[in-house]
Amino acid sequence: MMLPILEYASLNAAERSAALSRPAMDHRDNVLSLVRETIARVRKEGDSALLDYAQRFDGGAPINLRVPTTEIDDAVASVGPDALAALQRAIDNVRRFHSAQVLPPLSIETSPGVRCERIFRPIDAVGLYVPGGSAPLPSALIMSSIPASIAGCKRRIVCSPGTQGGRIDPIILATARLCGIEEVFAIGGAQAIAAMAYGTATIPKVDKIFGPGSSWVTAAKQLVSADPEGAALDLPAGPSEVLVIADETADPAFVASDLLAQAEHDPLSQAILLTTSRALAGQVQKSALEFRRSLSRGDILDQSLARSRIIIVPSLDQAIDFSNDYAPEHLILQVTEPRRWIDRIRSAGSVFLGAWSPEPMGDYCSGTNHVLPTYGYARAYSGLSVSDFQRRITVQELSRDGLRDLGPTASTLARLEGLDAHALAVDVRLEALRTSDSAERTSIQPDEAVIKLARPAIASLRAYEHAHWDSRFERLHANESPWAPPIDPDGERLALNRYPEPQPKALIEALSATYGVESSNLLVTRGSDEGIDLLTRAFCEAGQDSVIVCPPTFGMYSVAAGTQGARVTEVPLTREFQLDLPKIKSAIDAGAKILWLCSPNNPTGNLLHSSDIGALLDYSKNRCLVVIDEAYTEFSDAPSWITKRTSYPQLVVLRTLSKAYGLAGARIGAVIAQPSVINLLRKIIPPYAISSGSIDEAIRVLNGASKAVIESRIANTLVERKRVASRLLSSPFIETVYPSDSNFLLLQTKDSKTVLSRLRDIGILVRDFTGRASLGEAIRVTIGTSEQNDRIIEVLSSNSIGSPTP
Ligand code: PMP
Repeated sequence: MMLPILEYASLNAAERSAALSRPAMDHRDNVLSLVRETIARVRKEGDSALLDYAQRFDGGAPINLRVPTTEIDDAVASVGPDALAALQRAIDNVRRFHSAQVLPPLSIETSPGVRCERIFRPIDAVGLYVPGGSAPLPSALIMSSIPASIAGCKRRIVCSPGTQGGRIDPIILATARLCGIEEVFAIGGAQAIAAMAYGTATIPKVDKIFGPGSSWVTAAKQLVSADPEGAALDLPAGPSEVLVIADETADPAFVASDLLAQAEHDPLSQAILLTTSRALAGQVQKSALEFRRSLSRGDILDQSLARSRIIIVPSLDQAIDFSNDYAPEHLILQVTEPRRWIDRIRSAGSVFLGAWSPEPMGDYCSGTNHVLPTYGYARAYSGLSVSDFQRRITVQELSRDGLRDLGPTASTLARLEGLDAHALAVDVRLEALRTSDSAERTSIQPDEAVIKLARPAIASLRAYEHAHWDSRFERLHANESPWAPPIDPDGERLALNRYPEPQPKALIEALSATYGVESSNLLVTRGSDEGIDLLTRAFCEAGQDSVIVCPPTFGMYSVAAGTQGARVTEVPLTREFQLDLPKIKSAIDAGAKILWLCSPNNPTGNLLHSSDIGALLDYSKNRCLVVIDEAYTEFSDAPSWITKRTSYPQLVVLRTLSKAYGLAGARIGAVIAQPSVINLLRKIIPPYAISSGSIDEAIRVLNGASKAVIESRIANTLVERKRVASRLLSSPFIETVYPSDSNFLLLQTKDSKTVLSRLRDIGILVRDFTGRASLGEAIRVTIGTSEQNDRIIEVLSSNSIGSPTP
């Protein structure tokens, strides 16, 4: 009888437990022993054994075990646009859900001075198996390859049987390409598992194998995972199953189709309906038998529906209890207010809530993983996630105080276990501490205790290295304007007895007019430095969030993140000082909150390609804030990104009056963003951020006659930049003058020490970047007045005071 209906209340104890039992799995000993032979042969004979097996068991021996790139290209071209679009949409959702699973590293102090951490590292090489069988299963490949790429597994290989004359189905190859996989091998069955676990001349060895398969594949995964030289496996395998809980409000056709969707997988698949409604039970049975007539996998359905059942239960409460005991792979709740039951669910692989959440959505494209524990393993196992592709590594570090405090506990426990040497490893250190403590007691620093109260993240933070302060020198080391702002003879004395206006209206208006935005788009800050700090504090949760920084670049982005306890993901600029798009995109995928871009960039001086910035703005929509720091934009001919703010709600631009406007001493910067972002920052900016003197001075410089003076100074700086660059090209001390769109030049010197000391000798400070973020022996020179520039050119052109070291 297909889909029998049982009344739970009328069953005896034995019948009740039979009602919720699973069909026995076929553990044929001969499968295991044959697979053992296969593995041994693959280990011994390698590729030739694989080709022989492919000839005998797959769809023929492939010409190349490794599928050539051209075949993958052809496969992509042969797949229709609808299929490609559907695959891509599924991939995007799976990527979105799995990217959100990436956990930040954990670091806590379990006792004073005892720091315990957990860090994540991707498994180096993973093997993804995709079965051939009667139909290609691209979804199986998506579900394993996307989390593998998010985890950062360097090597991701795919094995799948060649079903068509040794060739893999084009849909699988196209999916591999969409998932970013290039190493695909046409081999299936237990021999493919053996090849991935031990490696052959062609197929690389992997550390862990993922993916479903036949009983041969399952047996091979079990055998290689039991061997330390083999490879780990993903999850114990079993036939797929569904348990539906429905009340009288459920649609019988929906419920029946859910049961059939599961039953068509495999003759051993099981579909169970628990319902409180006798009427629904009958309607579902009837509807299932009607649907069955028009479905293609009739044979399989007949076998699995015979193993399936409808059970009428007294209450939904009891249905949930049964389900928790059964621990289904898929649990579907078609009841009124399904979410009400979530808290009661204890074991299930994946749960589908309500009439509009059919299981195939999770199988293919909603975003959750369809590799789930089945056959009752959901009691202890969970579905595939990014963490299955990662190693979780713990780290610990004890300070002297930490060991002094906690060491005796370890020592006591070691002695309890009779492990003397364990106790010794602690005790020798405790003794050494006692000796050195008595020596140090006399020299203890009184402020040490106070410093210990600071956040550890701050204590270990590398401070921003601001320009060295020495009034004896001329300052071409901080990218300031060499000129003070133009003088206005009508200035009045300031009323410094009053607090300044919190967000001064007249200054905001002057800045809004200068930058061509509404005043609701703008926040005035103490230099753009404060904007950087405010954005970090507003968007990054300490210990949880991360920001992306592209070094070499302005140091405050990392300092602000470190201060806030946010992680910094560094994606270095390329050799041409441009953005590394793929790496930045994967850092965005990993859930970074802010992407910091500086264009023109300090200290390299160049503009970042606007097409790259545009691509990142497109990519990051709704996902992460993109902050473009335009501190030097007045010295470039690039249009400001401010004009793009309406197209990209996540775009924030930083501007400053410190450079072109000659107001570094006034400390005035601007954050330009959507009003919602500005309002958020307004909440946390300290009151009265800008001093009265600065407000007045900035308004004066932004308005009226000063404007023309500023413009001619910018023009002068550009002329001088060109002159200095071309003269220094022939300097015997300089190897490279990097192209600049800023008011400074980055110079690769042959010997930075000599250059710096020559410039100090003529009273000029510049900025040393030696050894920083692959900058070699670079120095950064601000373009000064013509007279200052002349002196620099002269001292770096002549060889007279000793020649440079080669
Ligand atoms: N951004 C960049 C790229 C900078 O180089 C600097 C200062 N050197 C700042 C921001 C900070 O400028 P402000 O004076 O506006 O705080």
